[in-house]
Amino acid sequence: MPDAVSPPPHAPGDIVTPERDINHQHFRPGDQVVILKGTSGSNLWGDTYKVVTPSWHTPTDEDGWRLYDPDGGARTYVTAHPRYLVHLSRRCPDCLIYQQALRMYLLPRLAGTVGDVDCGWYSLTSLNQVVHVADARGGR
Ligand SMILES: [Zn+2]
Repeated sequence: MPDAVSPPPHAPGDIVTPERDINHQHFRPGDQVVILKGTSGSNLWGDTYKVVTPSWHTPTDEDGWRLYDPDGGARTYVTAHPRYLVHLSRRCPDCLIYQQALRMYLLPRLAGTVGDVDCGWYSLTSLNQVVHVADARGGR
């Protein structure tokens, strides 16, 4: 087996994010956030955004946030549920606890993978709504 060919990692399902309890008011316009999607080496990896304004998250029928990604192209603005988001802009105990739980769950399962690994937990609807696989199962 040549070393250069690495099979796509068997990405674990996300059991951490669906259990996260965080309210909408935890975030405010201007906050820098990340949606964690996988790993990069021994770190968590994801997409970073700036929180813009409250926005209805139709996949969950709950309050969400409009997010801004200056490099997003056609997806410059997306809408996400608060439990997908992690603060980058300030040290935040709530977000750190979630981040730590995700790290402890994910890093051992993806140990030894090279480069960015997207676990495929999130998808984007035609209305640019970010939806977690656990929230998409309802089939709205
Ligand atoms: Zn936070």
